Amino acid sequence: MMDSSQEEFKIRGVGVAQGETREIYLKISESFLSTAIQIPITVIRGRKPGPVAFVTAAVHGDEINGVDIVRRLIFDVNHDQLMGTLIAIPVVNIQGFHSQSRYLPYHRDLNRFFPGKRKGNNAERVAFEIFDEVIRRCDFGIDLHTAAHGRLNLPHIRGDMSDTKVRQLARLFGATVLVDQKGLRGSLRREATEAGVPTIIFEAGETGKFSHKTSMIGLRGVLSVLSGMGMLPKDSSFKPPFQVIVKDSDWFRSEKGGILDLEVKPGDLVYEGDLVGEILNPFGRSVHRILSPTTGIVIGVTQAPLAIPGTGVVHVARLKKTLARVEASMRKMQKAKRMRRKGDKKKKKGRS
Ligand SMILES: [Zn+2]
Repeated sequence: MMDSSQEEFKIRGVGVAQGETREIYLKISESFLSTAIQIPITVIRGRKPGPVAFVTAAVHGDEINGVDIVRRLIFDVNHDQLMGTLIAIPVVNIQGFHSQSRYLPYHRDLNRFFPGKRKGNNAERVAFEIFDEVIRRCDFGIDLHTAAHGRLNLPHIRGDMSDTKVRQLARLFGATVLVDQKGLRGSLRREATEAGVPTIIFEAGETGKFSHKTSMIGLRGVLSVLSGMGMLPKDSSFKPPFQVIVKDSDWFRSEKGGILDLEVKPGDLVYEGDLVGEILNPFGRSVHRILSPTTGIVIGVTQAPLAIPGTGVVHVARLKKTLARVEASMRKMQKAKRMRRKGDKKKKKGRS
């Protein structure tokens, strides 16, 4: 589906010529006040032919860090150097974005209703318009998410790594951890991939926030993918210190109710038997120690200070064969960090 024709690329009748950038509103529903609900779409069409790619954010209306990544992407991509067509959608779930909620009206999760139905329920109709008008016409895509409400994620990629094209995109993004999961039925990444449009998701940060660090990691990753897929010059590609594909991940849950004292953060290595958190009673006394049942890398933690039996506290991706490689790489990174700190101290001393 190379964008090689000299013809206009059209979204809902609005044409974009080669070398042109257009901002388009795509109507996908209507409000209770009879007004149109429209999705903002920026189509950047390079002067030269190349693949068609989509980058979407806020499919979950409260996961807004991707909105910042898409904004930076639109202005960071050198439009003159782009080969192919980039379709950037900063907000997919408009109603959820308005109400700062994950959901569409009637508490429907848009990311369970792709590819949608023209005459279906409210979520199926929204999903259908986006899938039919944009997603199906792309060669590949990246969907930007954050952790769900109340949780914080290590920047990582998820996708069906048994699909060679998905795996290629995932590797190119340059994240350290690639979680091999197809995604649920109805999720954009799974349905797009099954429809022949390999798609990965970037998971990083938390809801309701712009984190500069997360934005820069996300932007670097998207540019690296575009570069690796031949849409941008090679100088945008990024290589991480290590990269592992993990199949299994576990949520460690609290067995007791109380106040949570968390001992780990995203990116930490934990070993079987390690203390990852403690539940305290109101007197500050420990009522439960949460020990890691496996060895792996922390990819998500709760941000909530309170827990009850069953609360997911720490999300760990299990490491087996790749553990030694990750350990070696982490030791190297820590050493480099110590050296930098030493250097900073010396500089400070020199100044005073
Ligand atoms: Zn999400």
